[in-house]
Amino acid sequence: MTSQNHPTEDNPKRQWLLQDFEIGKPLGKGKFGRVYVAREIKSKYVVALKVIFKEQIEKCRIQHQLRREMEIQTNLNHPNVLRLYGWFHDAERVFLILEYAHNGELYKELKRKDHFSEKQAATYILSLTKALAYCHEKNVIHRDIKPENLLLDHEGRLKIADFGWSVQSRSKRHTMCGTLDYLAPEMVESKAHDYAVDNWTLGILSYEFLYGAPPFEAESQADTFKRIMKVDLSFPSTPSVSLEAKHLINQLLVKDSTKRLSLQKIVEHPWIIKNADPTGICKK
Ligand code: AMP
Repeated sequence: MTSQNHPTEDNPKRQWLLQDFEIGKPLGKGKFGRVYVAREIKSKYVVALKVIFKEQIEKCRIQHQLRREMEIQTNLNHPNVLRLYGWFHDAERVFLILEYAHNGELYKELKRKDHFSEKQAATYILSLTKALAYCHEKNVIHRDIKPENLLLDHEGRLKIADFGWSVQSRSKRHTMCGTLDYLAPEMVESKAHDYAVDNWTLGILSYEFLYGAPPFEAESQADTFKRIMKVDLSFPSTPSVSLEAKHLINQLLVKDSTKRLSLQKIVEHPWIIKNADPTGICKK
């Protein structure tokens, strides 16, 4: 199905055209366009081609955000970060040449299974932690990590996608963004925030992977907001979850961002050591 080299490996500066690709089945529809599986004709390399209509980008005034997303993602090269190999455009559309994630959205897998086993959850959390450590090293804060933005490749390896809300930063940020359920208290309050927002999200995701729903879910946004601010955390009796997992979650969902467990400490946490597959491979 694929050759060894991805399309930009031999010539990173190559200019791409739509004619360079054979377009296959649609993979999904996002807010700003559609995604298709495609094959680069010369190398036979299979990619995902994201088609975005310029008119819509302009209407929503997100040209800068898209450009930032493209620039950030092009410079990231990690096994758990979805690669952006390149982009091109015609009069109406922008095309993003993305790594193909054969197993699609992690969210669908979570809904299908209701909740993950400790082994599967810990493997995803370790993959995410490693990807975030890599991003933080490059001064990138993702800020919009949620199951819908996580994809799975043919081996079930987790890939962070969608850098639309991420920022390249050396200092604390003040802007308000993201989906409420996954937001850290300092973001909900629009206070300055830094890398530790992604650590908070790791706590939310650990909980959601193990219980099937995020911890501060409520009827209204206002109630979710209140629950986040109080760190109103409780662990249901079913499904049964280990004490080590609850310990990790308690160490991440800490209001004071400076007291949250560091990414290095997550990697070394007993729950991760005991359950995670360090290869990141998670077969169905
Ligand atoms: P998006 O516009 O990024 O929200 O993508 C819309 C849908 O297309 C997603 O929900 C995925 O199901 C699918 N999709 C996006 N990117 C990829 C990819 N690189 N590989 C496989 N499926 C993808």
